[in-house]
Amino acid sequence: MQYQDKDFGTIHITVNPRARRIIMRPVVGGLRVTVPPYRSLTLGEVKEVIDNHRSALLRNWHKVNERPVTSDEELKYLRKAAKQYLPIRLAELAQQFNFHYTGLKIQSSRTRWGSCSGTNSINLSLFLMRVPEHLIDYVILHELCHTVHHDHSDRFWALMDEVTGGKAKELRKQLANYTTA
Ligand SMILES: [Zn+2]
Repeated sequence: MQYQDKDFGTIHITVNPRARRIIMRPVVGGLRVTVPPYRSLTLGEVKEVIDNHRSALLRNWHKVNERPVTSDEELKYLRKAAKQYLPIRLAELAQQFNFHYTGLKIQSSRTRWGSCSGTNSINLSLFLMRVPEHLIDYVILHELCHTVHHDHSDRFWALMDEVTGGKAKELRKQLANYTTA
């Protein structure tokens, strides 16, 4: 049996007589679910189990589905989109929450989404253009908060919570589902 899922793609469900529990394995373009035969599981029950493990599964799914190389064409597109969007959004959020930064560099960094220098100049990765807008905001706000606290202290996270409506850690968790690769 199979069905479509908004995050994973095709969910393939198979019954394995030797399975002792539900096993979920991310594959390219989908998820393989093996269920034990001892009782008939409804599709609703399988979906519920997937939902309960969705964020962790998604993390692994992204590793499996990661594109190894970004084509020159895609990189060009991302860079153009980043240059159009990020400077404006950074300025908006800085103004909204009264932060001051000294500059912005858009980088093709694959190791981090952003950083903030000792002189409060902000670097943002062009790969941010692949994540949802509210998570781009999270990264921008994260770097803007570093203009006030240059560390990840409790005071830093308290400020993050102030500017994200108390959702800082939740947003950080969501961002972990994406990679800069
Ligand atoms: Zn940080």
